[in-house]
Amino acid sequence: MKRLAILGSTGSIGTQALEVVESHPDLFEIEILTAHSNAETLIAQAIKFKPNAVVITDVSKYELVKKALESTTIKVFGGEEALIEVVRWDTVDMVLGAIVGFAGLKSIYAAVDAGKTIALANKETLVVAGDLVMKRAAETGARIIPVDSEHSAIFQCLVGEYIENVEKVILTASGGPFRGKKPNFLVNVKASHALQHPNWNMGAKITIDSATLMNKGLEMIEAKWLFGLKNEQIDVIVHQQSAIHSFVQFIDGSLKAQVGIPDMKLPIQYAIAYPRRIRNSFKRFDFKDFGQLTFEEPDYKTFRNLALAKEAMNIGGNAPCVLNAANEITVQAFLQNKVDFLEMSDIIEKTMAKVVPIVSPTMEDYEQSDKEARLYAQELVKKSPLATH
Ligand code: NDP
Ligand code: MG
Repeated sequence: MKRLAILGSTGSIGTQALEVVESHPDLFEIEILTAHSNAETLIAQAIKFKPNAVVITDVSKYELVKKALESTTIKVFGGEEALIEVVRWDTVDMVLGAIVGFAGLKSIYAAVDAGKTIALANKETLVVAGDLVMKRAAETGARIIPVDSEHSAIFQCLVGEYIENVEKVILTASGGPFRGKKPNFLVNVKASHALQHPNWNMGAKITIDSATLMNKGLEMIEAKWLFGLKNEQIDVIVHQQSAIHSFVQFIDGSLKAQVGIPDMKLPIQYAIAYPRRIRNSFKRFDFKDFGQLTFEEPDYKTFRNLALAKEAMNIGGNAPCVLNAANEITVQAFLQNKVDFLEMSDIIEKTMAKVVPIVSPTMEDYEQSDKEARLYAQELVKKSPLATH
């Protein structure tokens, strides 16, 4: 029996993880569930899965959750600090990091510090502070198993291999809803349009990141830290059908790929069950559904967020942290129709040029850079013609 703490249980990854858990009551038990503001869903999940504790980080919702669960033995905590405490509990065997954005960093770092095994969906944690997180994990023996489908694919391809024998990894990208489009089209796209991902059904932030290709840029940085790769060992290829979830190329030229239908439940299950594989009834891959598998170079000129992420990775230090913070602000602004699609890259680029570089940041430096970048990006959002309308 594995006792799980699911951080961000009300989100797209969190709810799918609970579906996996529900199908295997003999293998998993829920120890902790956490949400930010969706009290209603958290309460319903708590009643169903009977965790030892729940955390609602938006303190204004604390009383509501507390009251709804008062007739149960479930402990209820409020606020961000509680997250950092509960992940350390001895009763937690594995932490699933499914909070979105920089907000997920501190609790994952606490879990790493406590030497926990972590199934990691929250890629922003590694984008911002991958160096510190992996260093601490090596010290405490914490294990990080990727949930992100591309990284799960790479992880699965590496089973039984020596990392020294890897020549490069090739991350596949679907290209999102605007694959093949040019700036004259993109300047007019709206959030509702960008939220229609052709292959994956995900939370709003990552769906916009997929439309701008920032998601693939964040995933390059995530791969660098997860697998200890050099920047030049990480490639991206656009593969529209999302059947191949990524490739590993070895020093003898041999390529391994992991293939499957695009359904996050599979990498979620693989990560939480690792090192076991569990039988399930998920839809099977059928070659007849994928008549053609296509591959093309990404368009770095049009989808500048991907180029900016690659640049941030090459600069290193606090650059990916700044990129990430500016991106979170611009995605939020785009969702609220305050900036247009192309302005997102302008704002990220200007923020990267503005925040003072730090070569070897501490955690406090990262927090400070994140704050500065957010403030500056927010200023730029306010100057957008859309925001001033
Ligand atoms: P969602 O937006 O669907 O869910 C986010 C979760 O995080 C919710 O439970 C939300 O709580 C919680 N949350 C939001 N803000 C805060 C905060 N400030 N403090 C604490 N908790 C917070 O996101 P996804 O599930 O799509 O993504 C989660 C992570 O997984 C992201 O990092 C994403 O990049 C990664 N990922 C997602 C994939 C997917 O298919 N969705 C695929 C690969 C990676 P509430 O709703 O209660 O406010
Ligand atoms: Mg992915």
